[in-house]
Amino acid sequence: MKVSAQRRRGFVAVVALLSICAVLLGACGGPKEETAYKRQLFAMGTVIEVSLWGVDEARAAEAVRAVEAVLNDAHVRWHAWEPGELTRLNAALGEGRGAEVSAETAAALRRAQELATASGQLFNPAIGRLVGLWGFHSSEPPLGPPPPRDAIVALIEAAPGMDGLRIEDGRVEGDDPAVQLDLGAFAKGYAVDRAIEALRALGIDNAIVNAGGDLRAIGSHGERPWRIGIRQPASQGGIFASIETHGDESVFTSGNYERYFDHEGRRYHHILDPRTGYPAQHTLSVTVIHGEAAAADAAATALFVAGPGEWAPLARRMGISQVMLIDADMKVYMSPEMARRVRFEAQPAPETIIVDEAG
Ligand code: AMP
Ligand code: MG
Repeated sequence: MKVSAQRRRGFVAVVALLSICAVLLGACGGPKEETAYKRQLFAMGTVIEVSLWGVDEARAAEAVRAVEAVLNDAHVRWHAWEPGELTRLNAALGEGRGAEVSAETAAALRRAQELATASGQLFNPAIGRLVGLWGFHSSEPPLGPPPPRDAIVALIEAAPGMDGLRIEDGRVEGDDPAVQLDLGAFAKGYAVDRAIEALRALGIDNAIVNAGGDLRAIGSHGERPWRIGIRQPASQGGIFASIETHGDESVFTSGNYERYFDHEGRRYHHILDPRTGYPAQHTLSVTVIHGEAAAADAAATALFVAGPGEWAPLARRMGISQVMLIDADMKVYMSPEMARRVRFEAQPAPETIIVDEAG
C-alpha cells in the first residue's frame, strides 16, 4: 500500500514537473542562466519551483528551505481530508460546535470568509460535504458515476456558508453542521503569499514561487521581467499564451482538466457550482492576474463558476481587473487590462472577445 502510494506520488511529481517546465518559460532546457537559481521541491501535493535572481547558492538554499517549511505547514494545517487542523475543526463543526484553532488558521479562514462574501458565495469553501460527495476528497481521481441527484439536492438545500462562522483568535465557532470546510480553491494561493513573505523576510526581492503552474512573482529576472507561460486548457496542453510580470503579481488558473472523471460521454470535474451542486458548465479555464495570490486563487474559482455570461461583473465586484476565460468552444474572453499584455503562443491565435465592464 505504502509503496504504491509513494509510486503514485512520484508519478504525480513527474507530471507536475513537466507541466511546470511548460509553464515557466525558459526554465527548463534553455541556455543556463548564470545568476538565476531554480529549485524544485514537492509540497502541497504538487511540484513547487522556486526561482531566484541575484542570490548566491547559500542564500538560495536557505530560501528554498523557508518556502518548503511554509508550504508543508499549510499542507498539514489545511488539507481537506488528511488528518490535521482543518479535519479536526470539521469534525467539531459537523457536531454543531466550534473548536480551538491556531492563529494561522484563524487568519486564513478570515481571509477565505471575506473572499467568499466578495464572490457572492460562488467561491464557497463551506461546501466540503459536496466536494466529498462527488468523490474529490481522495488523491485518486474518482471513477464516477456522479452521485444521486437527491443527495446533491439535500446538500444544496442545507445551504452551507462561511457567513455563520465566528472566527476569533484561537477559536472558530459554528453551529451549522452542514458546514464542512474545503480550502482547495484557496489554500495554495494563501500559502504562496506566506512563502513570498518568508522570502522577503530573508531580504529576497526577486523571486517566483510556482506551485504546479500557479505562482506569485516579485521583482524581476535581472534586467528583464519574469516571463510566464499560461497552459493550454487541457491536461496535455503546451503553452497557450505568455505574459511578462511587472513587480509583484500572482497568476492563478482554475481548469476543468485538473481533476475529473468521464461518465457516459460527459465530463464531471472538480469545480462545483454551489447554486446547483453540479460541476460548473461552459468553461474550460480561467486565469486571473492579481497582486495577492489568495485572492487570485479564490477569484479564478469563482469566475470559473460564474462562466462566460457572468464573470465580468463579478470580477469587477471582486476588484479583479485581469481575467482570461476560455469557454467550452475555445473562445477566449478577456478584460481589457488582460488583453493588453497577453501574447498568444498557440497557432492559430484563438478567437478573442474583449469584455469592457466599465464601458
Ligand atoms: P481551484 O483549482 O483553485 O479552482 O480549486 C478547486 C478545488 O476547490 C476543488 O478541488 C474543491 O476542493 C474546491 N471547490 C470546488 N468548487 C468550489 C467552489 N465553488 N468554492 C470553493 N471551493 C470549491
Ligand atoms: Mg482557486
